[in-house]
Amino acid sequence: MIPFSPPRIDSRTLKAVEDVLRSGWITTGPRTKEFEKRLATYCGADRVIALNSWTNACELALRWFGVGPGDEVIVPAYTYCATANIVMHVGAKLVLVDVLDDFTIDPQAVRHAVSPRTKAIIPVDIGGLPAHMEEIMRIAEEARARFSATGGPQSTLGRPLVLSDAAHSFGARIDDRPVGTQADITGFSFHAVKNLTTAEGGALAFHLPRAFDVEAIYQWFNTMSLHGQSKDALAKNRPGAWRYDVTAPGFKCNMTDIQAAIGLVELERYDTDTLPRRRKIVACYQDAFAGDPRWLTPIMMDEHRTSSFHLYMLRARHATEEQRDAVIRAIAERQVSVNVHFIPLPMLSHYQGLGYRIQDFPNAYQHYAREISLPVYYDLKDEQVAAVIAATMEAMSEIMG
Ligand SMILES: *Cc1c(COP(=O)(O)O)cnc(C)c1O
Repeated sequence: MIPFSPPRIDSRTLKAVEDVLRSGWITTGPRTKEFEKRLATYCGADRVIALNSWTNACELALRWFGVGPGDEVIVPAYTYCATANIVMHVGAKLVLVDVLDDFTIDPQAVRHAVSPRTKAIIPVDIGGLPAHMEEIMRIAEEARARFSATGGPQSTLGRPLVLSDAAHSFGARIDDRPVGTQADITGFSFHAVKNLTTAEGGALAFHLPRAFDVEAIYQWFNTMSLHGQSKDALAKNRPGAWRYDVTAPGFKCNMTDIQAAIGLVELERYDTDTLPRRRKIVACYQDAFAGDPRWLTPIMMDEHRTSSFHLYMLRARHATEEQRDAVIRAIAERQVSVNVHFIPLPMLSHYQGLGYRIQDFPNAYQHYAREISLPVYYDLKDEQVAAVIAATMEAMSEIMG
């Protein structure tokens, strides 16, 4: 059986975890701070904070910006539910828009969806291919005239916040700059299935205009990830340093040093080892499927953008949703695990209940109905790549002729 996306765990990962467990300090501490510094260096951001997930990190970013009831946040219909759920958590209105043929949010649809209540736009770098960020930033700028700030960071920014969902795209590039400095805030996920993992984890890369004090913002996120407590556990641990204050009812979403230790190993070999292997696997898939008219192959690279090669989102060109499901069953019979990214939000009960209809997002439905994600991961061997291709081709012939 070929699994879909096992994490890369080897003796270096095990050694790093053993070292941190034996060090006497296992929660947020020196390794987390080191991981943050290295992430900032990697993506060229002013500052990075590492937290326990993309979800909690990005929800905190919406709270920092003061997004709440009465506000609107624009999200693509074609994404994982986390992108939308953080909007629900802060009590704002979810405004869904359709996607382009490359699966990323349609800038023109965003432009039409902007209202005076729009407080944030969350483009998604789906599969690892960056969204059209330059255009999205331009749209956020255009919204300046109609933006009604309620003080704090909203007044300083003077326009909607662009919060990038880069859960898939750590290491992807736009015009040869790594993802992390194109949006105001970029959110990464280090969940177990992602390109770079800490088992669970996430981070925010800050790239805000000069009027912001990035060090103060880092401190705000740090404090709010620890119950609004004025000192973290490490600071309180010093002799005599027991006293602390609570300045706001914060959350609990810090990263542990155990997670950071895994992340440091992952990061060190990311460019030299992880990305080249993923790129190679994707190149094999492109060679196999691009010349065959039964398939639509994903864009992994164009004039401006290079994917992080997170997902290989293949589409069966002429399949209905039922035929696609049958192709997946036929692939599974050949002992290969594939996946579908994603079921569009308007097709899931909760969002349906809120009144969203898939008919309003025709591209999202067309992409979803034909989509089959093939396995891409470091430990996938060349013979396995060949087996995935053979199983997928055979399944297609069996179902679609
Ligand atoms: C995985 C994922 C998330 C959530 O990441 P967590 O770290 O699990 O919270 C958000 N958006 C997308 C597109 C994802 O795939």
